Amino acid sequence: MSFIRNPHLVQSHLYALLVFYLFSIFLLALAWEFKLEGVAMGVLDLPYDGDFEVAERWRFVLTSTGFAVLAMVVPFVLLKRLIGSLHQSYNNLVVAQAQSDSLARHDPLSGLLNRRVFHEQLATRLDQPGVGTAVFLIDLDRFKQINDTHGHAAGDVAICTVADTLREATAGWQAAVARLGGDEFALAVTGRFSRLDLATLAETILAKIAAAPTGLPGVAFSATMGIAVSPVDGMVAETLLQHADSAMYRGKNNGRAVFHFYEASFENALRERMRLEAELRQAIAQRQIQPYYQPIVSLPEQQLVGFELLARWMHPQHGVIMPQDFIPLTEQLGLIKSLTEGLLIQAFAEARKWPPGLLLAVNVSSSMIESDDFPDWLAELARTGDFPLGHLEVEVTENALVANVGSARLNLERLRAMGVSVALDDFGTGYSGLYHLTQLAIDKIKIDRSFFDTSLDNQSEMVKAILALGKSLRMQITAEGVEHEQLADWLTTHDCDFAQGYLFGRPLPVAQVAALMAPDRHAGPLRA
Ligand code: C2E
Ligand code: CA
Ligand code: CA
Repeated sequence: MSFIRNPHLVQSHLYALLVFYLFSIFLLALAWEFKLEGVAMGVLDLPYDGDFEVAERWRFVLTSTGFAVLAMVVPFVLLKRLIGSLHQSYNNLVVAQAQSDSLARHDPLSGLLNRRVFHEQLATRLDQPGVGTAVFLIDLDRFKQINDTHGHAAGDVAICTVADTLREATAGWQAAVARLGGDEFALAVTGRFSRLDLATLAETILAKIAAAPTGLPGVAFSATMGIAVSPVDGMVAETLLQHADSAMYRGKNNGRAVFHFYEASFENALRERMRLEAELRQAIAQRQIQPYYQPIVSLPEQQLVGFELLARWMHPQHGVIMPQDFIPLTEQLGLIKSLTEGLLIQAFAEARKWPPGLLLAVNVSSSMIESDDFPDWLAELARTGDFPLGHLEVEVTENALVANVGSARLNLERLRAMGVSVALDDFGTGYSGLYHLTQLAIDKIKIDRSFFDTSLDNQSEMVKAILALGKSLRMQITAEGVEHEQLADWLTTHDCDFAQGYLFGRPLPVAQVAALMAPDRHAGPLRA
């Protein structure tokens, strides 16, 4: 095969062979003509007259050598061509093989190593005794947005920018740089380095990406990075990559365009949160979150007028979980609407068995009160559950209203038009702008229980002012967190309309609600 690889060598050999051959023929012809012919005839015992002229002898020598040359020319040219074309095919094969090798090892867009080869190289690096390896996972920020808004060409530019940056920034390092797929890149560096060296490298990469021209007006690229270092954070490729991923996830949650080293404590918290998240999703789907009902009474009669619906998570292992431990996460996960829907469906079915005329108050989060379809969604649920809209109340906090006053205002008006009343929850703890009271369709104010926490004297002037404000705006007032008789009496003398609190009843499961409504209880004042 070597002659295919190096045809010039072969051809020069060929020429030498040819010259040698012709020279040998020439010598042989000379020898034959001047000596051997006579000897051969003598040996054969044949008559031989060797009396030739010298010129005649030379003519024979030149003629025979000349014919030998002619006889060689055609095979020589053919052989030369054959070697040339074999060499060309061999070259083509070598190029094709190199291309397919490269395709199998590299990402075609960025030219970086692909995922498989990166894993192999990382594993090899980790096998080297006595040297440290650090793994960086790098993820472009808002890649989908760049692709969707500016097209795939812009996305490709972003990918190549990160690839070039990684290549440049790691010059001088013993590094393997890869594109793992999509907008995710990985870097493995091996050698003797400190954490500070790694942090400096990470900062350089982030700064270079941020400074790279994007070709898009007003757009800058940025990336988030997670770093895991062997042997501290793991000894095998999978663990290191997982840990770098966890560190990167932390950066994505921390506003992006940052780098983080892996920290086990963070990962534990993350794992806990993910577990809770999965459980919560399942709990909502399986209706493990159930409505509890807290009585609301009228003043001064202290008679039951309705219930506030409060969520309780009946966890199969942990027992009852209170709303402050799962409502914020439910809101973050965008699941609050389906949680509220599940609660309302159950509550409507249960409330049908209650004496008519009782109010059902439901807490509504900001994302729901802002959404355009909220009133229709509520009306449809009540219709399906056969619950009269006139007995439904929506409780919403001021903070939820101010998030998007415009759409909240429209929705409150539509609720009022449907006959649903609106209560401003936790009044006095949040934003508390009088603007909301005068401009929005609010029927009721719920004074937060913190106003009654400490001694009545300290807070009473504030409560009196809120009560007076409510009266002048023709709004009804509910006092929350009423735990003592003394407070109930004080509220009565100051014309508060409704009260709610442990004095009249804690939030109760549906089975205990029925007992409250026994005819003998319903007639007199309600006390827990
Ligand atoms: P909230 O709307 O202010 O509900 C009243 C909270 O005060 C309830 O806490 C209730 O159990 C508690 N409470 C009532 N009377 C007394 C009392 O006399 N003394 C004391 N110390 N506390 C009293 P809970 O059930 O833990 O609910 C906490 C918060 O979670 C609620 O505050 C509400 O903002 C939210 N929440 C509960 N259920 C839901 C729901 O289904 N959807 C939404 N979006 N939020 C909910
Ligand atoms: Ca409430
Ligand atoms: Ca409240």
